[in-house]
Amino acid sequence: MNSEKLMNRRNFLKLGAKAGGGALALSVIPIKLIAGEEVGEDEALAQAMGYVVDASAVDTTKFPKRAGEEGAKQFCNNCALYAGDADSETAPCSIFQNRPVRGAGWCNAWVAKT
Ligand code: SF4
Repeated sequence: MNSEKLMNRRNFLKLGAKAGGGALALSVIPIKLIAGEEVGEDEALAQAMGYVVDASAVDTTKFPKRAGEEGAKQFCNNCALYAGDADSETAPCSIFQNRPVRGAGWCNAWVAKT
């Protein structure tokens, strides 16, 4: 009986150590991974959407939406889908599963903030 109780206690302690280890492992996951990596221009969806980190680099023959005087005013940080302050360097965008995009960037899904 005593050895059975002892075994149960040992198993309990082992379980606690495993649970504690799991919690420790979770606590060291970088916030960046939880929020998602910043969108890169070379990603398939980014290329399909014409996303660039520097809006002045948009090929306006390919994406005429950003051509002209009005088009030149379009940036991620004044897009309705930019979930951050206008002066923040990056912010989540729902087009990219809420991964960060550059405030100075642009893509063809740009829509004016109202
Ligand atoms: S949808 Fe708006 S915020 Fe998102 S990448 Fe395109 S222009 Fe930037």
